[in-house]
Amino acid sequence: MSDFVADFMAKLKAKNPAEPEFHQAVQEVVESVSLVLEKHPEYNTHKIMERMSEPERVIMFRVPWMDDQGNVQVNRGFRIEMNSAIGPYKGGLRLHPSVNLGILKFLAFEQVLKNALTTLPMGGGKGGSDFDPKGKSDNEVMRFCQSFMMELYRHIGPNTDIPAGDIGVGGREIGYMFGTYKKIRNEFTGILTGKGLNWGGSLIRPEATGYGAVYFAAEMLGTRGETLEGKTCLVSGSGNVAQYATEKILDLGGKVVTLSDSGGYIYDTDGVDREKLAWVMDLKNARRGRISEYADKFSSATYTPIDAGADSNPLWDHKADCAFPSATQNEINKKDAENLINNGVYVVSEGANMPTVPDGVEVFLKNKILYGPGKAANAGGVAVSGLEMSQNSMRYSWSREEVDNKLHNIMKSIHKSCIEAAEAYGAPGNYVLGANIAGFKKVADSMIDQGVFG
Ligand code: NDP
Repeated sequence: MSDFVADFMAKLKAKNPAEPEFHQAVQEVVESVSLVLEKHPEYNTHKIMERMSEPERVIMFRVPWMDDQGNVQVNRGFRIEMNSAIGPYKGGLRLHPSVNLGILKFLAFEQVLKNALTTLPMGGGKGGSDFDPKGKSDNEVMRFCQSFMMELYRHIGPNTDIPAGDIGVGGREIGYMFGTYKKIRNEFTGILTGKGLNWGGSLIRPEATGYGAVYFAAEMLGTRGETLEGKTCLVSGSGNVAQYATEKILDLGGKVVTLSDSGGYIYDTDGVDREKLAWVMDLKNARRGRISEYADKFSSATYTPIDAGADSNPLWDHKADCAFPSATQNEINKKDAENLINNGVYVVSEGANMPTVPDGVEVFLKNKILYGPGKAANAGGVAVSGLEMSQNSMRYSWSREEVDNKLHNIMKSIHKSCIEAAEAYGAPGNYVLGANIAGFKKVADSMIDQGVFG
């Protein structure tokens, strides 16, 4: 680690204690951009890294709601408005018991660079709550979402901050929040993305993150003259991103052999075909059950529980060509990364945000595999959210094919930006460096243009 990075990180950790995920996300970026900072001292003069790692605004609030038994419950709500240099704050809301300030700051920080890569005018933000939607009734989720929006509405707006979904937030939650905002403000406006098709949503938004991660993998394979046809793929998660990554892998001729949830994973020797995928979508989207039930239903599959405290995750220890981590952060440790390489995996395209720990990333880079980090590979979701905002402004809807084509072109453009930035800084094929540098430069230059408030 250079003196600059060590000094920068020491100050950041002192100022933001007990936020390990935030430290991890910032450190990766400072390490990548230290080459740029050496070449362009103006970025240090303008204290760009210091400014980029300090949110423009952090909103933390009480979310009281009443459960079905009539008991008052209290959760904590957050919105991190990280950076608005290139557009209004944009990024998802996460509802999960693990949510805390540090996790949302890491996600907001990543979002700023990711959004810059999409070519669309969006700043970065992230929010959510430690509320756990699992096991709650629809009415409880509705009352929580209404209470959450009773505070959030003051801080968002179509030209200010436009949240979307993330873990635990899908069409149902966006609907309850949108309805609440409309009631309070008496206006029908595009303040959230991921909306229902009847009320301002975009076609392909639910599919976009998963499809995008697979398009990104296809672009990476293209640099070696290969395609996804016939490739065996490991997918983690069984939520929004995992489901549509699986669908697009099938479209492009690949075979998916794993899916998971926080309890464990299934391995299907015959592969998850369209019929089985439809069954998983029904199981998960109707919140009817756990992925373990897949192995009861389909005899070609086995189920293995995942022990979060174990030294490796068996999901990543199967023969395959490609991996699409699509569940959560830090789900691939160093040992998992080594297992992937030893099993022949040479394409990793991250549907989730920061699913690989830094030591694992090192393993991928050392082995020179095609490794697409989340901030590039999973940018398709926010890109189509950006397209939803454009359609809302025009009061117009594009067809499925139009949105899918735009998404595909955006993923190609992100891939090209990463390749070009990595080459320009002497690290061809290093998508981590490429994504960090390309995103950083766009945001940094915009901040300088706008003076110290930029
Ligand atoms: P969902 O809530 O739809 O699904 C999440 C999946 O990951 C579920 O299978 C869930 O299992 C599993 N999971 C969640 N937390 C953990 C955990 N701590 N350990 C193990 N498994 C876990 O979320 P999404 O599919 O939307 O999000 C998945 C990832 O993709 C996240 O990292 C998110 O930030 C990222 N992402 C999402 C985007 C989007 O458009 N939705 C955009 C860009 C990135 P269980 O059901 O047991 O909780």
